[in-house]
Amino acid sequence: MQQLAKSKLNLSFDNSFARLPEAFYRRVEPTPLPAPYLISFNRDAAALLDINPDAAHTNEFIETFIGNRVPEGAEPLAAIYAGHQFGSFVPQLGDGRAILLGEVKNKNGARWDVQLKGAGKTPFSRFGDGRAVLRSTIREYLCSEAIHHLGIPTTRALSIIGSDAPIQRETIETAAVLTRLAPTHVRFGSFELFHHRNQPERVTELADYVIREHYPELNDKPDRYTQFLTEITRRTARLMAQWQAVGWTHGVMNTDNMSIIGLTIDYGPYGFMDDYDPNFIPNHSDYNGRYAYSQQPRIGIWNLVCLAYTLLHLIPQAEAQAALDTYQHEFAEAFGELMRDKFGFSEIREGDAGLVAKSFEILAANHVDYTTFFRRLGNIETTESETAHTPDAVRDLFIDLAAFDAWAQTYRTRLTGEGSDDDERRERMNRVNPKYILRNYLAENAIRKATDERDYTEVDRLLELLRRPFDEQSAMETYAAPPPDWGKHLVISCSS
Ligand code: AMP
Ligand code: MG
Repeated sequence: MQQLAKSKLNLSFDNSFARLPEAFYRRVEPTPLPAPYLISFNRDAAALLDINPDAAHTNEFIETFIGNRVPEGAEPLAAIYAGHQFGSFVPQLGDGRAILLGEVKNKNGARWDVQLKGAGKTPFSRFGDGRAVLRSTIREYLCSEAIHHLGIPTTRALSIIGSDAPIQRETIETAAVLTRLAPTHVRFGSFELFHHRNQPERVTELADYVIREHYPELNDKPDRYTQFLTEITRRTARLMAQWQAVGWTHGVMNTDNMSIIGLTIDYGPYGFMDDYDPNFIPNHSDYNGRYAYSQQPRIGIWNLVCLAYTLLHLIPQAEAQAALDTYQHEFAEAFGELMRDKFGFSEIREGDAGLVAKSFEILAANHVDYTTFFRRLGNIETTESETAHTPDAVRDLFIDLAAFDAWAQTYRTRLTGEGSDDDERRERMNRVNPKYILRNYLAENAIRKATDERDYTEVDRLLELLRRPFDEQSAMETYAAPPPDWGKHLVISCSS
């Protein structure tokens, strides 16, 4: 008889979601894929599960995180949810290709959902094949880690395991499984499903679960449901402000892609802007720009309203309204603070909002690279105007120099007004204005190398680069550059 080798991974499961009634999910086994191999491993996320980096190359790791071997203690399931997609309600969605293995409890007592994305069909796959292609797993893997290291709440990514199994999309591609980690994957849409089915007692059960596990500070509060709605409103408002501040667009802000704990979740046709453009739409199937960059704050509250409707048997309507009404203020406050820091002001003063708006106006008119602008803004000196000889001058990014000079005059006056110190401010600004972001062309380079040449080194290189987005990394200077012509308007397929 074959002797089972002792597990090196030693995952310690404690599956709170699986302890809920089966109304919330279906039990399902991952469907194996042939001859899996490691594509990339993320030691930062591994540490969350107490996985030793040496384990990454073992058979056990590869077989486990492609779904070929279900670890002891796991209780694999697909969660059920609904959602508003592009404004229309879809009564039933659910994990169509993501399988939750269970929750791993680490040595600090924190529990992490371990979810395999692309691990095969589930009862919610509808017409899909339950798979993910290598291209789309690389995009999610790199971006979720990039967003994390920018200080924005998000799901994490542990690994990509590949297989040569053919997957039909527009062309034939190959399969991969992304392992995604989060405290929970419950979405706004999870609540909407039971509300739509007229099962308020299920909504209550789910709210109680989410509060117990993820908002424990509200547990004993008599108005805990109101406070829960207020808190998710606050988190969502702040998340939107953070996305806006780094120039990132989700692309598919359907309510099934909205995390109930305020994480960035479900990376599809997302994008960081290169040139500043409020109408930036990364998703080429979003013909009306519903999820354009400038629309995200508005969609955030639209989605919260959908969530609030499901809770009206638990919260008096006036209280629900009051909770939602905090959104505008939370967003404005968070955005104001982020802009204060990005512009290097030590305090918010009257007139700052106008200065910020004017800045965005000239960025748009001059097609200035958003990230480069802020990184170089730190080089401005209050006493001396930039000239053609100043290295890395912000001024060089503009076509209309007269407009820039007039703006810079106002900006310098604002800085002088608070006695700003050039060196101290530059240092402070460089800690909030990233030098390196996951530009689309960088991701595309890594994807092409991986899919065309089986060369995964670029994936690892980007992962390493994006762990320290605010640091000068002299050997990686070229990765800060705006896209070359070929990389400016890449069409990101929404198939994944
Ligand atoms: P998304 O817009 O990527 O968040 O996906 C919307 C829904 O479609 C989710 O319920 C997914 O689980 C499902 N889905 C996406 N791709 C597939 C696939 N290849 N097979 C099965 N279900 C899928
Ligand atoms: Mg989704």
